[in-house]
Amino acid sequence: MAREFNFEEESVRALHDENLQEALINTTNRFRTARNDAVSESKNWEDLRQVARNIKEYTINNLHNYLLLLENNILKAGGHVHWAKDSDEACEIIKNIARKNNVKRIVKSKSMATEEIHLNKSLESDGYSVVETDLGEYILQISGDKPSHIIAPAIHKRKVDISRLFSEKFGVPEYDDPQELTKIAREKLRNEFLSADMGISGVNLAVAETGTIAIVENEGNARLTTTVPRVHVALMGIEKIIPSFKHLGLFLMLLIRSATGQKISTYISLITGPKKKGETDGPKEFHLVLLDNGRTKILSNSHTRESLYCLRCGACLNICPVYRKVGGHSYGWVYSGPIGAIINPQLQGIDKYPDLPFASSLCGACKDVCPVKIDFPKVLLDLRKQVILKKNENANWVGVIEKLSFIIWKYINLSPNLYISLNFIAYYIQKPFINNSDKISYLPLFLSRWTKTRDIEPISKKSFREIWKDKFYA
Ligand code: SF4
Repeated sequence: MAREFNFEEESVRALHDENLQEALINTTNRFRTARNDAVSESKNWEDLRQVARNIKEYTINNLHNYLLLLENNILKAGGHVHWAKDSDEACEIIKNIARKNNVKRIVKSKSMATEEIHLNKSLESDGYSVVETDLGEYILQISGDKPSHIIAPAIHKRKVDISRLFSEKFGVPEYDDPQELTKIAREKLRNEFLSADMGISGVNLAVAETGTIAIVENEGNARLTTTVPRVHVALMGIEKIIPSFKHLGLFLMLLIRSATGQKISTYISLITGPKKKGETDGPKEFHLVLLDNGRTKILSNSHTRESLYCLRCGACLNICPVYRKVGGHSYGWVYSGPIGAIINPQLQGIDKYPDLPFASSLCGACKDVCPVKIDFPKVLLDLRKQVILKKNENANWVGVIEKLSFIIWKYINLSPNLYISLNFIAYYIQKPFINNSDKISYLPLFLSRWTKTRDIEPISKKSFREIWKDKFYA
């Protein structure tokens, strides 16, 4: 398989990074507490999740109709709509808009879709000046780093790292106070907004019925990005659509409470086309780029289609015991945590990310917090099946050994006498490996993977039935 990266290697690196471990636990705990408090205040939360899931299911099943309705309404409002089948096409469309409008300077607000298509790199290679204006993204841009969380992209950076970075880049003292650091960034960015010809944003939700896009944020940078420059381009994954304006309140509430625990975010911008006659604010031109980039492939699979319901709130990352230890960069692409484990292999190809469907304990905590109730364990198991089928199809020795192991395992487990005899033999074979604490901390050859990161309990001489009897009927 043409593996893109190695999840295990990346994870081990992350596990040994003490600063990252501290940052991950502190930030995800903060988000989780805020989300839990916000949810506990809402008496009918479970019902609302179910309604949102039903709406998403219906919309995704009728996606073509709603996308055409959205396009029609945006055109009516004076905007332009473009359809991009992949990253290259999306970048080319945006560069064309820039060329036609004689654009030189571009400001951007946070957008995972633009990360997905490597838009900055593509624009910069054509000579455009591109500046990220979300504080976290700005920090990552000037440090040449990548996001590691959907809503808190610089979660892996400590205050001291940012202070040092600003001092190096801008020749300012190393401030300890986050407000001072924010002030420096704000001063730099204000000038960028004023001199930009084009603003590029993402889209949180798009309302088909009215041709309106909604952008949720707390810093005000997205509002400036979408209103100050003379051209606004919004890039949107085709799944971010909802049918009607009356659904918007529900989705905003679920998204914001699940993401940051706020009742409402500081800014919600609702944009329907460009500035109209008589209006003072807004761009002269508005363009919406609808990005497929593998989404219609997901749509064609009824078992995993629900991956497209995601609102990108980040709640599944904050609860996930795997993400909370290995961080975002271990997932190898822009999306991380449980949503990355299911989306990255589907969007980029299971050959590139065969490890990710296995990067889960299947505990189901992600399913419990997801505002649209994505059934992660079900999707993960389906993707695991795809990985195994692919392995067997390639007939490599790992697939064959795995298959053989399960045939033997099944045979042993269906033969009580054989099971008891093998248990008895294993009890004696294991003796040299049992340490003073009555645990096995080392096993040889291929079994060594079992003990690489933990000690295991020795096999008991008693059968399972005997242990059960002792425990409950003694
Ligand atoms: S999968 Fe659900 S919990 Fe995770 S980011 Fe998407 S909407 Fe949020």
